[in-house]
Amino acid sequence: MTFETLGLSPALLRALAENNYTTPTPIQEQAIPLALAGHDLLGGAQTGTGKTAAFALPLLQRLSKLTPPNGPRKPRALILTPTRELAVQVADSLRTYGKHLRLNTTTIYGGAGMGPQMDNLRRGVDILVATPGRLIDHLERGTAKLDEIEVLVLDEADRMLDMGFLPAIKRILNRVPKERQTLLFSATFEDQIKSLALEFMRNPQQVQVTARNTIAETIVHRAHPVDGSRKRDLLIEILSKRHTDQVLIFGKTKHGCNRLAEQLETAGLKAVAIHGNKSQAQRQKALNLFKAGKARVLVATDVAARGLDIPNLPLVINHDLPMVAEDYIHRIGRTGRAGAQGEALSLVSPEEGGLLRQIQRMLKVDLVMDVIEGFAPSKPIRLDTPIPKNGGQQRQGGQRPPSRAPSKPAHRAHGKPGDRGAGAHAHAGPKQHRTGGQGAYAGAYAGSRRGSRA
Ligand code: AMP
Repeated sequence: MTFETLGLSPALLRALAENNYTTPTPIQEQAIPLALAGHDLLGGAQTGTGKTAAFALPLLQRLSKLTPPNGPRKPRALILTPTRELAVQVADSLRTYGKHLRLNTTTIYGGAGMGPQMDNLRRGVDILVATPGRLIDHLERGTAKLDEIEVLVLDEADRMLDMGFLPAIKRILNRVPKERQTLLFSATFEDQIKSLALEFMRNPQQVQVTARNTIAETIVHRAHPVDGSRKRDLLIEILSKRHTDQVLIFGKTKHGCNRLAEQLETAGLKAVAIHGNKSQAQRQKALNLFKAGKARVLVATDVAARGLDIPNLPLVINHDLPMVAEDYIHRIGRTGRAGAQGEALSLVSPEEGGLLRQIQRMLKVDLVMDVIEGFAPSKPIRLDTPIPKNGGQQRQGGQRPPSRAPSKPAHRAHGKPGDRGAGAHAHAGPKQHRTGGQGAYAGAYAGSRRGSRA
């Protein structure tokens, strides 16, 4: 299968060739012909599968059929994303793929001044990439108009709903013409999201390239049991042995991420941090430093790192386990992208046994427990350890505090762990790394074994 056979225009094919895209990924293969034919789409694809091009290419092709007038004009495509970083990234991809087309893409998101965004909107935009909260601000001021939207894309729809954007999304949908094409992409697909999507989509075709809540099989997963107070030392030990690998580290709190980055700097490792408290300019700067290889370590909270595309990232480390098992998938989705090999390490303290259990139940596999010599925890990792309220941590907010009370965040911490992802479609998880015990102990107590992979 080639991009030519998918029916893409010469201008798009040229841009793809210039970027060394030779073969469509499975989601592109399935989604592009359907989207080009004008269907609504429900795309189940995790980040790293090439889903951006799967919606961007048909969208660009559709819009390019009409040469836009010079000067002020209203957007004809709207792409909603949950985070600022993803908005920037999607817009970059649109500009890359649309390099030989005369279409103007602009981004609007919170945490940045309204003025320049208003100027861009005034000058004339064909494709608008926006986070929902800020778009509402522009709609209220009358600086953004959506009455000529032909294509609406909801990217990472599950996360947008998770972050409490449902009311904003509904308001935006009221402003968009009913006669339009809607493409909805989501890494994880819950029935609840699906039924909601069906409310505002017309006979959508469904494409699914991975089973629900699965992870790339090219990723090796390992858990290192360690006392919480020694995690930083263990991290430095691991990084000192890895010499050059760039690494993305997930921490639980904004403050903790800052502190960890500082401590790593003190240990001689160039580290930057991104989280919700940093300004957009700071976040982008840190990300650029990391992407350019000028910082070896990027420390991030879940929300800040969502959807980031960092090519060739070999290693992701969970300094703290995520509160929500699905976030494990999103975190490690930063590595092992587009078929590359990746490694996901999790530092697990005895207090996090319950969180580990959640993840294992979701993945339907036990993570390899690997005690690093000198770092054995003082207590066993018990999988039946209760998950404290909020997991002893704060879930990081996005641009807005979640206003959606029911269904997920609150009960996740207390309800039956891992049930959400354990649907019939989940695959066996990271193969070759099964350990035996499904019991209450993770089999990792004090053994002081190095490389004790079962
Ligand atoms: P995405 O899932 O859209 O974030 O894409 C993940 C990465 O794969 C990005 O770096 C894309 O540039 C890259 N990519 C997407 N499609 C292709 C393709 N057909 N061939 C090569 N690279 C691709």
